[in-house]
Amino acid sequence: MEDKVEFPVLDRGFVRLVDFMGGDEAVVQAARVSTGQGSKGLERDRALIDYLMSHRHETPFEHSVFKFHIRCPIFVARQWFRHRMASYNEISGRYTELRDEFHLPATLRTQVSKDYQYAPLPAETAAPLIERIAKHYDDSYRLYQELLGAGVAREQARIVLPLAIYTEFYWTVNARSLMNFLSLRAEAHAQEEIRAYAQVILQIFREKMPWTYEAFMKHWFKPVL
Ligand SMILES: Cc1cc2nc3c(=O)[nH]c(=O)nc-3n(C[C@H](O)[C@H](O)[C@H](O)COP(=O)(O)OP(=O)(O)OC[C@H]3O[C@@H](n4cnc5c(N)ncnc54)[C@H](O)[C@@H]3O)c2cc1C
Repeated sequence: MEDKVEFPVLDRGFVRLVDFMGGDEAVVQAARVSTGQGSKGLERDRALIDYLMSHRHETPFEHSVFKFHIRCPIFVARQWFRHRMASYNEISGRYTELRDEFHLPATLRTQVSKDYQYAPLPAETAAPLIERIAKHYDDSYRLYQELLGAGVAREQARIVLPLAIYTEFYWTVNARSLMNFLSLRAEAHAQEEIRAYAQVILQIFREKMPWTYEAFMKHWFKPVL
């Protein structure tokens, strides 16, 4: 049965875990199939997961699978979809009229060094710019509506919409690929907006696969620059 809980991210986005198969025990089971053995008790199973992670013996982690429903701006989805080891299905701007929903940042940031260091713009500089961004969204959406009204096809009318418009997709990913995603997108080099999503997913991963999460944090994940 689908989980209705949506974890809010950014101003209008969310992460929702739709389905989950496996867990820590599925990793243990897969790793031990080669010797025809299953669980050897909690502590030894936990130690096995730690061993697998520390030796980058990653295929047993492919037997746990997460299905997420994601709502995020298109510029976040573009980064997300680079993670090829997963399955995606996205809402279609050809077949549906896109909604007037854009990511409007509460603050603006400036890049202060090449190695992904940023600082907030002063509020007095940011506030009028944010207002102009909002107006730009309004104008774009109005033009989109005008094009649709004139009979332009949805697939073509959408070309005037900014990358900040929200999209939705289903993302089915196994725990091995999920850890690769988290190692790249929940850490400090990742862009702040996708990192916000990855941080939520990291907590869902922790809840569903606590031993794997523990080993991942110990041997793989490097959160700081
Ligand atoms: C901070 C940051 C900056 C980035 N900047 C840019 C950028 O400027 N330009 C840009 O284009 N991308 C950029 N990317 C995207 C990046 O190059 C990867 O495409 C993205 O992070 C997905 O990672 P992945 O290939 O490991 O994941 P997946 O596609 O999910 O692949 C998982 C793993 O499968 C294996 N694999 C998958 N496909 C192949 C293949 N064809 N051949 C061999 N092995 C494969 C690899 O081991 C890979 O790690 C950036 C990513 C980050 C995190």
